[in-house]
Amino acid sequence: MKTIVFDSLSKWIAFRKKFRRGKIGFVPTMGALHQGHVSLVERSRFENPITVVSIFVNPTQFNDPNDLKNYPRTFKGDYELLKAAGADFLIYPKYDEIYADGYKFRVSENHLSGILCGASRPGHFEGVLTVVMKLFNLVGPTRAYFGEKDYQQFLLIKEMVDSFFMNIQVVPCPIIREENGLAMSSRNERLSAEGREKAGLFFKELSSGKELKEIRKNLEENGFKVDYIEEFFGRRLGAVFLENVRLIDNVPA
Ligand code: AMP
Repeated sequence: MKTIVFDSLSKWIAFRKKFRRGKIGFVPTMGALHQGHVSLVERSRFENPITVVSIFVNPTQFNDPNDLKNYPRTFKGDYELLKAAGADFLIYPKYDEIYADGYKFRVSENHLSGILCGASRPGHFEGVLTVVMKLFNLVGPTRAYFGEKDYQQFLLIKEMVDSFFMNIQVVPCPIIREENGLAMSSRNERLSAEGREKAGLFFKELSSGKELKEIRKNLEENGFKVDYIEEFFGRRLGAVFLENVRLIDNVPA
């Protein structure tokens, strides 16, 4: 089966009208796809007759210009992976199409988005919520799939959908990990082989049941720069830097 690619929004919008009544599962991504993303696509395929994936590296959610510049872009490999996973449609829009308004209109939240990742990444969740709202309006999904790796993001999107009475089921999906426990992430590509191995310690410590401050200390002693290690929503959540790459993870508390 082929995955049909739409690299122009106007073509997608015209095409989308044909599916007005069918159920659609949607998986928004920023590309550099891995098995974590594939698990979302597979779940969507299982639960919906049509699966749409988007790839859009959304500049408005990057508070660090270097992070945006270095974000891996691997379109060809992504396409092959999506074809193998059986995605029906891939939308791959350009910045000017998504932000034709120059980012004048935004979706902001002033509570949950101020803690954890929001505290150290000003504007991040505003960028996320705005682009997800736009993508939801473009795709009109019945269900949308989000990884629990970005747990705070999942909660905020769920709340946005509830607050604006959007008729979309937001489906959380379990975290897919490397063999050493490291949560799969597009940013892992930027770690050295040695760093990638060491990064497994982040998950091990987070799930160790130790006190939060002891976890922080152990990670710092092993060369991680810790942004936060905290407990919220019945989970232990953390963000760390290793080799200047920001990694996040969480486990049930
Ligand atoms: P991203 O491309 O990083 O924006 O991620 C797109 C979607 O894939 C988000 O809903 C992420 O939470 C999800 N995702 C990323 N990594 C994983 C993973 N290791 N396991 C499960 N879902 C993931």
